[in-house]
Amino acid sequence: MAAKQVLLLFKDQALQDVIARAVLQPAGYRVHNSSSAETAVQLARKILPHCILLEAKLDEPDFPLIRQLKRQHPATPLLLFTTQITLEKSLAALRAGADDILTPPMKTQVVLQAVQAALTRQEEFQDWTTLETRRNTQSLQRRLDELDALSRVGRSVTASLDIDSILSTVVESAVELTGADEGSLLLLDRESGELYIRAAKNIGEEIAHTFRMPVDDSLAGEVIRSGEPLLYSGDSPQKIQTAYFVQSLMYVPLRSHSETIGVLSIHNRQKKDPFSESQLTLVSAIADYAAIAIENARLFDNTEVERRKLNAILTKVVDGVIVVDHEQNLLLMNPTACAAFNVQSEVAAGQKINQLVHHPDLLRIFDLKPSFFPLRREVVLEDGRVFNIQATDIPEVGLVLTMQDITQIKEMDRLKSDFVNAVSHDLRSPLTAIMGYVELLERVGPLNETQREFIQRVTLSVQNVTGLINELLDLGRIEAGFDTQKEMFALEHLVNLTIEELRELAESKNQALIVEIAPNLPPIYASPTRIQQVLNNLIGNAIKYTQVGGWVRVNLHTEDRQFILQVSDNGPGIPVSEQPYIFDRFYRATNATQATGTGLGLAIVKSIVENHQGRIWVDSVPGQGATFTVVLSQKKPPEKPLSRQPEQWEKASLE
Ligand code: ADP
Repeated sequence: MAAKQVLLLFKDQALQDVIARAVLQPAGYRVHNSSSAETAVQLARKILPHCILLEAKLDEPDFPLIRQLKRQHPATPLLLFTTQITLEKSLAALRAGADDILTPPMKTQVVLQAVQAALTRQEEFQDWTTLETRRNTQSLQRRLDELDALSRVGRSVTASLDIDSILSTVVESAVELTGADEGSLLLLDRESGELYIRAAKNIGEEIAHTFRMPVDDSLAGEVIRSGEPLLYSGDSPQKIQTAYFVQSLMYVPLRSHSETIGVLSIHNRQKKDPFSESQLTLVSAIADYAAIAIENARLFDNTEVERRKLNAILTKVVDGVIVVDHEQNLLLMNPTACAAFNVQSEVAAGQKINQLVHHPDLLRIFDLKPSFFPLRREVVLEDGRVFNIQATDIPEVGLVLTMQDITQIKEMDRLKSDFVNAVSHDLRSPLTAIMGYVELLERVGPLNETQREFIQRVTLSVQNVTGLINELLDLGRIEAGFDTQKEMFALEHLVNLTIEELRELAESKNQALIVEIAPNLPPIYASPTRIQQVLNNLIGNAIKYTQVGGWVRVNLHTEDRQFILQVSDNGPGIPVSEQPYIFDRFYRATNATQATGTGLGLAIVKSIVENHQGRIWVDSVPGQGATFTVVLSQKKPPEKPLSRQPEQWEKASLE
């Protein structure tokens, strides 16, 4: 064994020499002499002595050197030699950190005994430190193992949706960490009121499959009822079930949303070791993971069921559904939509919509800005079918299109229009005859007051019917596309003209007519006659339906190369449930009873707007007024102006 090293610092160098040569070295110690406090400190740092012997005279009165050496080498014994010992000084030295005090006469034996005793104490202290460190290391290791197991369970809970494998990991970890003989995860079957084994470790498969335990009459059931954990270790084995005894057990509740759904159970069947409180804390943490895993699996199952339901609905529904994200990648296209646009459903998802669908009218919808939605469009397929497409922008999803096949409705509508047109035609001649004869009546003889009044009434009624028939025929013509020619003109002039024509009517109702026209508007390419009809109808309606003293506002501006015309009023508005129908022929909302009308005005307006490839819609809060918005594009005239589009010829020739 290497010689123990002793550091000496004496004021009396002769004495230091004697102690070194005559006392310590012969006893096998290696002595290091120092001559001053500084050299002692430096040397101590360098050689790390096993013991330090110091003469008090060098360090009095407050023993700063002892303090410094002890601070740097707290485990090294420090012996103090003093010639004049007082109780006070001894106490001060001991407080400063001295381990022993030597006084004259300096007998060899006394010095050696003191050094030896100090070294023995130091060794004992070192042994104790080593043991303690080992014990702490072991406990740290155990802690690390526990943390490792917990993180393993945590990882498996978050990384997997396979509930069987997660719960097996949970039970295995609980058994492993507690060193138990066996463990199982019992879940409550609410219908039968029994606990069954969902996962197990060291429990025979057969038992695990057939195990059933009533909640009412079992220890595990008690945990379910109380929601509190249970530890048992007694002198005699505890019965779990018939012929199933354990020496000690730990039951930890599995809680989900403040409800106990099961028990994590750990048993020692052979071992007599009890389970500790700290093990209980650990297993509780593991049980929490199990509860989370079960809850996750339940939520996943629910979501999966909902997803399947939704999928089934989308697959079976007769309407077409297309969903694209905001980058125009296809998210969903149900079989109806796939069939309509010849898309193979299996390869569709994730691809750009314009690579799958080539119908220009449909593709145009995807290019529109979000402010255009929700919108409705009719799209005619190659096979002649007509689909009514409704597009809605859902910010967190994308664009959702639903499409209904309205071919039949369109056909019936066409037949109805044809019929109405024919009847209107046929009615016109007899009405003209009636009017003619009514006008002649006055000429054939004198009429009394009553007769004149009756004639006036007949004239008014015939005029009303004629107006209606003219509107119907007009509508027929517009719908057939058999329309007046389009030309370039200033839309704002037409707006001003219409306002002037209707000003008198508005003034008669004491209404304010507000006109807002943006400066420098470009000319529009449209049919002036038809656009004036639109303006007349919309502004006329606003004046007609708004109460005396109200206001009507007309706003015209451009946005994104489109004309936006808005006619607003603060009249009665339109009931929400009736808003979708007001553009239908003959539809008069329930708010319109006091005003006269045919219910054809807005149908004509809509047809005209659509004939100009524009859009019209209404926004209205009942009781607060209505705003009709018309959007017309700033189209340029075709290079060679056509008096009629080929499609219009086709429709016209059907008449
Ligand atoms: P009408 O000949 O009845 O005015 P329209 O086709 O022009 O027929 O309008 C259809 C219905 O829409 C009206 O009967 C009325 O109920 C409603 N309507 C139209 N414009 C307005 C408006 N500015 N304010 C309130 N309701 C309106």
